[in-house]
Amino acid sequence: MKILVVGGGGREHAIAAALARNPETAICSVMAKRNPGIDTLSRTVRICRETDVGEVVAFAREAGVDHAFIGPEAPLEAGVVDALASAGIPSIGPTRAAARLETDKAFCREMMDRNALDGCPLYRVFHSADEAARFIGSYEGDLVVKPIGLTGGKGVHIMGEQVDRDGAIAYARSLGGNVVLEERLLGEEFTLQAFVDGKHLVPMPLVQDHKRAFEGDTGPNTGGMGSYSMPDHMLPFVSRKVYQRSLAIMQSVVDAMERTGSPYRGILYGQFMNTVRGPKVIEFNARFGDPEAMNVLSLLSSDLSEIVTRIGEGTLSSSHVSFRSRATVCKYLVPAGYPDAPHAGDPITLPADPKALLYYANVEKDPSGSLATLTSRTLAYVGMGETLEEAEQNAEQAVSGVRGAVRYRKDIGTRALLERRIAHMKELQ
Ligand code: AMP
Repeated sequence: MKILVVGGGGREHAIAAALARNPETAICSVMAKRNPGIDTLSRTVRICRETDVGEVVAFAREAGVDHAFIGPEAPLEAGVVDALASAGIPSIGPTRAAARLETDKAFCREMMDRNALDGCPLYRVFHSADEAARFIGSYEGDLVVKPIGLTGGKGVHIMGEQVDRDGAIAYARSLGGNVVLEERLLGEEFTLQAFVDGKHLVPMPLVQDHKRAFEGDTGPNTGGMGSYSMPDHMLPFVSRKVYQRSLAIMQSVVDAMERTGSPYRGILYGQFMNTVRGPKVIEFNARFGDPEAMNVLSLLSSDLSEIVTRIGEGTLSSSHVSFRSRATVCKYLVPAGYPDAPHAGDPITLPADPKALLYYANVEKDPSGSLATLTSRTLAYVGMGETLEEAEQNAEQAVSGVRGAVRYRKDIGTRALLERRIAHMKELQ
């Protein structure tokens, strides 16, 4: 079977690596920059903009692929799934209309509201700077200001954290008043990802991501500095009841999308806040998280190519999906100065005997094999183990062996950080 992988980051390297575990699967890939990891796994590669729908479809036809797996959100928004479908190629990834769950924050909230779905925070949608400013000025309590469209995960301003009330008003005005305002939720965040075939949803292990740039969850938000998961696929600050309720919210979204004529096919990513009032949806993404993809795909013990086929047919069930009962810790290395003033072009060398899986992201490899940083996250290692401690030590052994102008967060996956999460949740209750 031939599968097209669209995208060139760490997430797509993890997708390609999981597909490549089936020796009968041939990978063809489209990416804007040559990812050395995906390159090695691919039979053919096309370097072009991932949002160039015409080019992606032309390549998919030439290569004769049976399915496509869309990694990032931008090609979904550009309509690549719709265009591939017109060419007779099914995708892991929703149509442009269904991808609005991620690409249009107003659509997401209004859809949840209209269908009376559980887990929707209090929110208001605005298209006028004056009205948004009046609302922020008169609201009692903290709000979160979100631009309506895609921002690469960096466009959310939280009152009481990054901005005060005047700052929130100024930010809403700078967006022309096209914002979703939401109540600020307090709690612990977790990620629940699932395979969805239009109707059936099969969950993956829970993961916790770390968006802040520096240790102790300080500094600016990033694309994600790393993530961990536990051997039982749960998180110690998420009860069974909260998990079941989150899963039910995800299924209710899939049901609502089908009912309203935009069936959802692909990966559904739910980012939840575990609050004292139960799980609330921070956002949905229409694809795997990056880094969370690396945790769950490293654990996947069933054949991803078969899952792809099943999603295409609409015959997916939990009997097709299994994950190893191990802990994972993913640590991203990022260039010096990331995220505010990242420095590109610094040479790096990798350890000879890493105890962790390597996923390349935004890194350049010259013909001699030397690696150099680019401006985004460089590469990630995923350590695995019977316990979180063992997984963390394996990840740490690998990342600490990388030489060059890169850094990472030492605290991700440590017992101390986990204890802080558990204590925070207890404190709120
Ligand atoms: P997003 O771009 O929606 O992923 O949001 C980025 C970050 O903002 C999330 O990871 C959360 O930490 C935070 N966030 C988003 N919405 C809320 C909310 N309603 N309350 C509190 N924090 C939020």
